[in-house]
Amino acid sequence: MKRYTGISASKGISIGKAFLYQDDEASIPKFSIKHDDITQEMNRFEEAVGKAVAEIEDIKKKTDFSSFEGSSHILDAHILMLRDPDLSLQIQKMMTEILLNVEWVLQKVMDNLIQKMNSFQDSYLRERSLDFNDISRRVLNHLMDRDLLDLSNLKEDIILVAHNLMPSDAVAMRKEHVKGMALDVGSKTSHTAILARSFEIPAVLGLGSISEEIQNRDLLIIDGNNGIVIVDPDQATLDFYQSHLQEWQRKESQLLYMNELSAETKDGKLIYLKGNIEVPEEVDSIFAHGADGVGLYRSEFLFLSKHTMPSEEEQYKAYTSVLKGVGGKAVTIRTLDVGGDKILKNINIKNENNPILGWRAIRFCLSEPDIFKTQLRALLRASISGNLQIMFPMISGIEELERALAILEEVKYQLKREGIPYRDNIPIGSMIEVPSAAMTTEIIAKKVDFLSIGTNDLIQYTLAVDRGNEKVAYLYEPFHPGVLRLLKIIIEGAHSQGITAGMCGEMAGDPLATVILLGLGLDEFSMSAYMIPKIKGIIRSTSLLEAEELVGNVMLMRSSREIDKHVRRWMEERFDIT
Ligand code: PEP
Ligand code: MG
Repeated sequence: MKRYTGISASKGISIGKAFLYQDDEASIPKFSIKHDDITQEMNRFEEAVGKAVAEIEDIKKKTDFSSFEGSSHILDAHILMLRDPDLSLQIQKMMTEILLNVEWVLQKVMDNLIQKMNSFQDSYLRERSLDFNDISRRVLNHLMDRDLLDLSNLKEDIILVAHNLMPSDAVAMRKEHVKGMALDVGSKTSHTAILARSFEIPAVLGLGSISEEIQNRDLLIIDGNNGIVIVDPDQATLDFYQSHLQEWQRKESQLLYMNELSAETKDGKLIYLKGNIEVPEEVDSIFAHGADGVGLYRSEFLFLSKHTMPSEEEQYKAYTSVLKGVGGKAVTIRTLDVGGDKILKNINIKNENNPILGWRAIRFCLSEPDIFKTQLRALLRASISGNLQIMFPMISGIEELERALAILEEVKYQLKREGIPYRDNIPIGSMIEVPSAAMTTEIIAKKVDFLSIGTNDLIQYTLAVDRGNEKVAYLYEPFHPGVLRLLKIIIEGAHSQGITAGMCGEMAGDPLATVILLGLGLDEFSMSAYMIPKIKGIIRSTSLLEAEELVGNVMLMRSSREIDKHVRRWMEERFDIT
């Protein structure tokens, strides 16, 4: 039995068999071959291509393409590319020159093609580079006998073990079979951690090199509550966790009685408790946990899981399905927030030196107006199906907000001219997640109908701590006096202009922070579905008066450690915050 400690990224306990997932270039073998081996290597290539083509034909047969415009043509194009005799000629030529194995040569030939495609001005041609990526991955899977390594194809329950997992892979995996997650890297507010919480998958991240030490099918316990992974547990440990798991499930289901009750403080302030979602299918789960609406729909996940840009029609269908699924409750859809750790497969924004400070979110949308306008058209058209609110991410100042608002007006005008209906007076909001926006909240608040604080980014930018880097995770402090002061400025700034202040960053779903946020005056909390009952329980047992008193005390303190200790003791005396 071996025990590893990492970062508790998603609560819960799971017991199951390890499934090692490797999807990086480092795992591609490289070895020398002799001239005589070329024919054998080429035969291996042709055989792998045959299997890849059969696989695509199979996907075509099994998929209903009615809601995925264009996807069946893409698969046809993939088959043509795989069967292109020029591809096999290029591989043979390079192999003869460098005398290396076919996996390595295939990767190099594909890299060259992808580079060439990416250098074109034409965005359609640039997008085609993704097709090369896709087919090369498929052939490599067969060459390396990795056909089991497709997370969207899982057939049995597993515990996923990997060095890293991109958010795009996390959305695409068959979630019902992923019972737990253990990753070498990552921290609590990385998007993969956020997804694990949304999908209620217990997860421990930042484990160092666990992916090198665990074998496929090892028996694992994931203790997401304490950030522990146990490999090959003895019987006593297994028994202990099995009973712990039952107790955890019992406690969780007990909390669901809260669903029918409102989130009102003891002295009568009504708080809106909403759910964060990444994919439309999560709507059922947030209502099963008693949400008042969707406080954040991270629309980028519709873009991340695909190899082409979703069309206006596809987006329209996804937004409409969420709006219709919530029975008239408010749904805040955030416009495309890519960049950072959310890399679009179809746009080359990979190679920035500082992606977190780079071409992200609203900056990306303002410089790619076609993509932005397509999304806004889809949103406006969908607005007639429900209670839509639109929100812009990563606004750093008033000019950026005004440019986004101007484009929204332009799209509305265009729709009007085309006679396409949309709802008037859609509430528009801005995220506050950049310190410069926080400091100018009062100015920004004049232009919008609501604000929502993105603490995941706000804390990372305020404290200069990469939110996804486990090595500096100890510095990521929501209770840093600097962060609390900024939160105060934001909430007061929103109220001074008569609008509500919400929060959709992970701090809103942290039970330790609930009373502090109430005391600061937050009006709306939006979080992963499964945290809603617990947070509601705390709100219902607290008065605004005592929350304000607690805030008054912590504002006099000097350090996060001091504040954390004080708040933890205060909360533990009153609530179960585990
Ligand atoms: C945030 O930054 O707090 C937020 C909600 O947005 P995201 O986590 O998607 O960056
Ligand atoms: Mg953010």
